[in-house]
Amino acid sequence: MRKWNFSAGPAAIPEPVLQEVQSELLEWKDSGMSVMEMSHRSSDYIGIANQARQDLIDLLEIPNDYQVLFLQGGATLQFSMIPMNFGSQKVGDYALTGSWSKKAINEAAKIIDVNVVTSTESSNFDHVPNEESWNCSEDAAYLHYVANETIQGNALHAPPVTKAPLIADMSSVILSEQIDVSKFSMIYAGAQKNIGPAGLTICIIKDSFLDTASSELPGMLQYAKHADAESMFNTPPTFAWYLSGKVFSWLKDMGGLKSIGEINKLKAKKLYDFIDQSDFYSNPIFKENRSKMNVPFLLADSKLDSEFLHDAENAGLLNLKGHRSVGGMRASIYNATPIEAVEALINFMGDFQSKHG
Ligand SMILES: *Cc1c(COP(=O)(O)O)cnc(C)c1O
Repeated sequence: MRKWNFSAGPAAIPEPVLQEVQSELLEWKDSGMSVMEMSHRSSDYIGIANQARQDLIDLLEIPNDYQVLFLQGGATLQFSMIPMNFGSQKVGDYALTGSWSKKAINEAAKIIDVNVVTSTESSNFDHVPNEESWNCSEDAAYLHYVANETIQGNALHAPPVTKAPLIADMSSVILSEQIDVSKFSMIYAGAQKNIGPAGLTICIIKDSFLDTASSELPGMLQYAKHADAESMFNTPPTFAWYLSGKVFSWLKDMGGLKSIGEINKLKAKKLYDFIDQSDFYSNPIFKENRSKMNVPFLLADSKLDSEFLHDAENAGLLNLKGHRSVGGMRASIYNATPIEAVEALINFMGDFQSKHG
């Protein structure tokens, strides 16, 4: 029996998508084979891939002067590819707002000079300072920030206004609400949080920014090579691309990002409201920077943590353990987690509190 899955990633996938994939698993349409068994150069597969790309463009309203790439290596490879492609001879500006921005900085520092424009590490990343206080370089190659810190559960809800080209890691927030892509030079996201299965990374890059990329790198590490080859420079992760395409079309059926954005807002509000009115549970993040996707919470008595997790699992609520670096609990409530799951979690939390509070 399927249960409510609050995993941070790989994370829940919409059930109708899984059912559709199941119905096509042995044979896709009248092709005589599974999508997994198709050549990525076949007309059937090219059709699947192009449709998925177009649906993503429609959902995010990506302007014409952007490339949309379907790559591998996870968001983590982007931590290196970005400074390799765009950092030549220059400094990279980075906001340090959580564990993922820290990893991005550590990788970039192997390749370019990094200027940390702001850091909240000393307060355990409990907020994201306003960009007016950021210490930006005069001539940065780009400014990198993590729009939603998956581990700490903080977020910057509007893109910072900066002089340097803006790059956002949106791994855990992409497609959760409408955004204005034109504000960014590059957006990237690993698929396994809010898109589809692991193994696929989406990169959205503005043409004029792509023109500034290095052409000295090994082919696999050049965005331009992937763009020229329409993400088929080598064999792409064909099944993950196909399955992500199903998620895009599910999102379109749901009414697109405006509708899902409203649902996500409501889900997060319900959960935070419940946490805030309780003295048994707490969330440490400044209200204006709370993530709508990843909701960490602590029990007043951490000795009850393992019992909480055990009972939650018995109640059909899975993967609520917080990241080992933060402790406590974390409920990831991405697009595929419906409001019923959040309500079930709140009911459970209420019952657990009455038993122990
Ligand atoms: C999960 C995550 C990553 C790392 O993704 P991989 O696909 O494992 O490389 C990077 N950034 C953010 C914000 C994430 O949530």
